[in-house]
Amino acid sequence: MPHSKLTQFLLLPKLKLIDMNSITRHKVVVFHCETTTKIAFCPHCGEETSTIHDTRIVTVIDAPHGNKKKILKIKKKRFRCVGLHCKKVFTESIDGIKKRGRITQRMQRHILYVCDRFANMKAAKKHTRLGNKTIYKRHYDQLELEWRKRKDDPWPKTIGIDEHSFQRNKQHGHMEFATIVVDYNNKRVKELIPGRINGQLQAALNYIPGRKNVRNVVCDLSKSYRSFAKDFFPNAKVVADHFHVIRLLNPHINRARKEITGDKRNLRIRKLLLMNSRKLDYWTRSEIHKWLKQYPKLQQLYLAKEALHKMYRCKGRKRAKKSLGLLLDTLACSQFKELKSLRRTLMDWKDEILNYFESRITNARTEGYNNVCKQLQKRAYGYKSFKNYRLKVLYACT
Ligand SMILES: [Zn+2]
Repeated sequence: MPHSKLTQFLLLPKLKLIDMNSITRHKVVVFHCETTTKIAFCPHCGEETSTIHDTRIVTVIDAPHGNKKKILKIKKKRFRCVGLHCKKVFTESIDGIKKRGRITQRMQRHILYVCDRFANMKAAKKHTRLGNKTIYKRHYDQLELEWRKRKDDPWPKTIGIDEHSFQRNKQHGHMEFATIVVDYNNKRVKELIPGRINGQLQAALNYIPGRKNVRNVVCDLSKSYRSFAKDFFPNAKVVADHFHVIRLLNPHINRARKEITGDKRNLRIRKLLLMNSRKLDYWTRSEIHKWLKQYPKLQQLYLAKEALHKMYRCKGRKRAKKSLGLLLDTLACSQFKELKSLRRTLMDWKDEILNYFESRITNARTEGYNNVCKQLQKRAYGYKSFKNYRLKVLYACT
């Protein structure tokens, strides 16, 4: 039997198989083995030694063997240092097992795989046949290791920022929010931060090098994200996400329409009013316009929304600027307070809206990762620890 090849596959390098027995009833295989090392180096003084003090047997759990739990019973040697002033006794280390570890590193990776694939703890427990605590701890240890690998990566050229709710505050009952920062160039989540205030973001992101690399920051129409981006990234242009700009009037249109038609969800007009009229056929469009003639307020809101769509059809910053200017002039003459507040918002975000026409970046990718985060929360029935939630998100969104 090619002993060395087999042992390398079944066991770990530098282990020799002595005996093996399997307990079929419990679906367990036990491998009895010993180490092949002849010499070791003292961890205290570095002296080479071959004097064996005694041996002891340690039990280590390895990645499953088929559907069987695999246990390694390893006869470990304890060496005695031969250094004149040292004479200390130490246990040898084994490749593939951490110091004092009771599971192999192979098993640790297996836990990560299992936690990723299975829907819940019960399934993961059944598959690995480990306890709750072990799986939980090992899983997050491994996630932390994975994150450390790319911890020092510098900032990319383009990033997206968005928020989502995390959990309800226990004391005051309000929702707490988390901010997600997405790396557009490498298509992954760069960081997840509790809170959405400028100061919190700056403190949490300070460790990442290369702030000057960032050229574009996409976000929704949130003042705190804008001021953060301007303070934190000296060379960045802030881009307002165009879906958020187009949606600005939707709640007002809905409210005005409800006053006329009532609150039935299945009304045809409800959807038609919110759609881009360019996507409707000629007959539907003229039907809408005829219907709107009876209701001047709704008509005004609708036309303003269409003007926003029209602006986003422009090619190039110059044309968009012209279109936006026209819209702002029209809005200035309006007597409705919704349109006046729209005008204020557009004035406030003018530069960010126009920046879109240079880079044409949207927040779609960030919204996508936001959905992944919500799915993760659902799957875990909510997270208690933000630290673990963050690690999970950073691992899942790569
Ligand atoms: Zn020594």
